Amino acid sequence: MCYECGCNNTMTTMSGDSITEITFQRAAKGAGITVEQAKRATLELLKRELGESKEPYATRA
Ligand SMILES: [Zn+2]
Repeated sequence: MCYECGCNNTMTTMSGDSITEITFQRAAKGAGITVEQAKRATLELLKRELGESKEPYATRA
């Protein structure tokens, strides 16, 4: 995507700063984790950031 604008196209680049599938691939590689792990961690943090989760902050395994 573009994960940020709601277009639901994972590879669209709305701007040079768009969050895309590539963002997650790079972030996961940099952190030494899988893309799925990066997305899951991002999802959980976003839920907390948006007040949609009361789960405590998970520690990285
Ligand atoms: Zn978009």
